[in-house]
Amino acid sequence: MRRVAIIGAGPSGLFAAGQLASQTEVEVAIDIFDRLPTPFGLLRYGVAPDHDSVKAVAKTLAQAFDHPNVRFFGLVQVGKQVTPAELLRCYDAVIYAYGAELDRTLGIPGETELDGSRSAREFVSWYSGHPDAHYQDLSKVRSAVVVGVGNVAVDVSRILLKDPAELSVTDMPESVLNELRATQIEHVWLVGRRGPEAAAFTNVELRELLGLEGVDTELIGADLTTIDTEGLDRRAKANVESIAKAIAEPTPGATRHLHLLFNHRPVEVVGQDTVSAVVFESNLDGSRIEVPADLVLRSIGYYGVPLPGVPFSDGRILNLEGRVLDDDLSARPGEYVTGWIKRGPSGLIGANKKDSAETVANLIADLAVAPVRELADPDALLEANGVRASSLADWRRIDEAEIARGDLLGRERTKIEAWHELLDLVFAEQQAGVS
Ligand code: NAP
Repeated sequence: MRRVAIIGAGPSGLFAAGQLASQTEVEVAIDIFDRLPTPFGLLRYGVAPDHDSVKAVAKTLAQAFDHPNVRFFGLVQVGKQVTPAELLRCYDAVIYAYGAELDRTLGIPGETELDGSRSAREFVSWYSGHPDAHYQDLSKVRSAVVVGVGNVAVDVSRILLKDPAELSVTDMPESVLNELRATQIEHVWLVGRRGPEAAAFTNVELRELLGLEGVDTELIGADLTTIDTEGLDRRAKANVESIAKAIAEPTPGATRHLHLLFNHRPVEVVGQDTVSAVVFESNLDGSRIEVPADLVLRSIGYYGVPLPGVPFSDGRILNLEGRVLDDDLSARPGEYVTGWIKRGPSGLIGANKKDSAETVANLIADLAVAPVRELADPDALLEANGVRASSLADWRRIDEAEIARGDLLGRERTKIEAWHELLDLVFAEQQAGVS
């Protein structure tokens, strides 16, 4: 049987695992590696907790684990504890599916130095209960500025503006919900450097934001009557129409306010130690405005990081249709890529299915004709490198503990966000097994 390793147990990695496991052309055993003891990657730690229907994709993705030839190795940091070159000695093929884990910066004064100015990615990680996320104090936040007008910006704006009671039914950790309950937030500024017709958000997400209870909407920096909607694509046209409708409709008794500021680019994050405002410059007439802010979230896109020895260019692994390419553009035997680290940080969760199908089809076509190699033992490699991996059974224990925690609070699940608690659940059983 051929052996394939998948690096990353997020949507693209698990779609690839499911597709590999269900094809019949070449018999394969699949090992999935992740640095966390929990699978599902961005589905678990990126998709907003109040988006149940997207979260439900986890059930489909988890089917990959039902296959007898699929194993899960959590708590393995490929690139640090095990190198790609070492894995290639143990597997006929390796698929890189580790996503885009960093975020882009604006490169303006104050952005990275001041407390209260951070990336939307970090904020999303925090409210999603990622064990690496840093605590977010919202107690003094009255005004938040979100830079960028993509779906991540819409997600963070919605979480800030939504009544926390509505979020209480989600899987958010209790510590996060308590912080959201305590916030005095009144204003969220969502700022695009171009006009509303050029915003990256999708219309369903925009309408969800504009329709929040107790939130009114103001539009600044753009005149919708000057936009020729006939020349726009369906999504852009619908976005302009949705904004026009929202600003025309009064929201009696609104206590929170969404300010949509367009055609403005950020030039400075202002404050002394802590952020107090953001200065924006109009792209139309060069005028400047200072927006008060206690929290600034830049939401201008993610980017991927390279792995040692793997060709990388422009935030992605160099590839053609999922086959990793060398710098001279020749295909590197046995190396494949899928998801955001293949195509860049764009597209909804479902887009990874098609993306992984392309990669898996090429991998299987190559494997069907590749000479059989003598492979090293991956379990022996982990042991030799001193890696103590977690298993699928360990994840199932975490899963059950989260469901039990949710049950106590009358919810389907409450996420465990602390590393020490996750590791206790993993290693308590391993130790019990040893003794
Ligand atoms: P995105 O869709 O690429 O949006 C990035 C935004 O940042 C754009 O508005 C862009 O404006 C702006 N931007 C970039 N550089 C900037 C700069 N220097 N100054 C000011 N603004 C700047 O990225 P994303 O929001 O991170 O989303 C990533 C992907 O995940 C997208 O495909 C998204 O649809 C998907 N996603 C989906 C959902 C959902 O369906 N609910 C939720 C989250 C994410 P320009 O257009 O002017 O460059």
